[in-house]
Amino acid sequence: MSTAATPKVYGWCPGALRPMMSGDGLVVRVRAPLGRLSPEQARGLADLSQAHGSGLVDISARANLQLRGIREDAHAALIDGLRALGLVDEDAGAEARRNITLTPFWRAGDDSHQIAQDLAQALRGAEDLDLPGKFGFAIDCGETPVLQDTAADIRVERGPDGLILRADGADSGLSVTARDAAAEALALARWFLDQGGAPEGRGRMHQLLARCARPTAHVAPAPIVPQGETQHPGQTASGLLVALEFGQMPATTLAALADHGALRLTPWRMLLVEGARDLPPLPGLILDATDPRLRVSACTGAPGCPQARAVTRDLARDLAPSVPMGQHLHLSGCAKGCAHPRPADLVLTATDEDTFDLIRNGTAADHPLNTSLSADALRAAPDLLTEGS
Ligand code: SF4
Repeated sequence: MSTAATPKVYGWCPGALRPMMSGDGLVVRVRAPLGRLSPEQARGLADLSQAHGSGLVDISARANLQLRGIREDAHAALIDGLRALGLVDEDAGAEARRNITLTPFWRAGDDSHQIAQDLAQALRGAEDLDLPGKFGFAIDCGETPVLQDTAADIRVERGPDGLILRADGADSGLSVTARDAAAEALALARWFLDQGGAPEGRGRMHQLLARCARPTAHVAPAPIVPQGETQHPGQTASGLLVALEFGQMPATTLAALADHGALRLTPWRMLLVEGARDLPPLPGLILDATDPRLRVSACTGAPGCPQARAVTRDLARDLAPSVPMGQHLHLSGCAKGCAHPRPADLVLTATDEDTFDLIRNGTAADHPLNTSLSADALRAAPDLLTEGS
C-alpha cells in the first residue's frame, strides 16, 4: 500500500439535481442528451458557469460537463437555467439512471444514434430500476470500437457478425438489432440486479461476472479491438478533436468554441467541434497532438478537492516535457487516483503538502518505489521519475 491515507469513496457520481460538495463549492455534472451541445447550449452553460460558479468547466471520463465552484445558494437558479437550455432531467432518479456514454462519432440516424435515443427514453421511464450510482451504459456501434477503455457496465457495440449487447467483463454478448437493443439493455440491467450484482446498493457488472456466469444466450463474438489505437487532437470526418489541459477549460473558452460549431463531448478529455477544420488558440485548449501535456493526467488536487494532500496541476505541467514519448505520468492528489484510475507508467501520489510517492506501472494506491519526494526535488531533477527503469 501507498503511504497515503485511505481516501473516501462516495460510490455515486454528481449530477445537476444531486450535486456533490467539493473544496471549491458544488460540482454540478450536466449529462447533455446524446453527448452534444448546440452552440446556444454551450454559450448558455458558459454564462451559467460564470454567473453562479468559478467559471471553470471540466469534462468527465464519461463525457459529461462539470460546472465547478457553484455556490450553494445559486443552485436553484442554475437548475432553472439548465432547464431553459434543455439540459436537465425531470428528477434526480431519471438523471442518475440516464448514465450513457455515446461514441462521439455517431451520425444522425445511425445505429448508435437510434439506440442512444431509445435507451435514454427507456431509462427515464424505468422508475423501478434501482441501479448503483456508478452503473452505466456505453453505445459504441461504429465500425471500429472507440469506448473499450471507457468505464461502462453494459455495452452495445458492433461485433464481427453484427450488433451485440455485452455485459462488461464478458468475452461475448447477445446478438441484437438497433430496434431491440435498448429493451435488451434494460433486461440485462434487471438481470444484474436479480443476480445480486448490487449488494448494499453498490457493485459493477465485471465484479458480478467474476463470481457468476454471463446469461446463457450471450454467445455472439465481441468486437475485435485494434491494438494501441488512442484518440489524439486533430481532424476527423466529423470535425476537429481538441483536447483540454487536465480536462478543464475556462467558461470563456467554451463560449468561444461555440462560435465554431456544435460540440460533442468525449470520454478522452477532448471535445469534437462539429464541422470545424481549424481553431484559434484558446486558454486551456491543446490543438497539437505532440503537446507534452497530453502525456500527463492530474486531478483537481488542492485546494479544489477536500481530500487532496497537495497541489497537483502546476507540478504536472512542469514535469510534462520530461515524460518520455509513449509514456504517461499520473499526478494524483491522493491515493484515490480519480484522474487516471487505471495503471500508468509513472505515478506521483501526494502524501502530504509537499511530499509525493513515486510508483511505476501501477495505480495511485500501489506500492511506491520511492517516497517523500518534494515538488522542488522533482522539478530540479525530473530524471528521478525514470531513473533506473
Ligand atoms: S484523486 Fe484527486 S480529485 Fe480524487 S479524491 Fe484524491 S485529491 Fe480528490
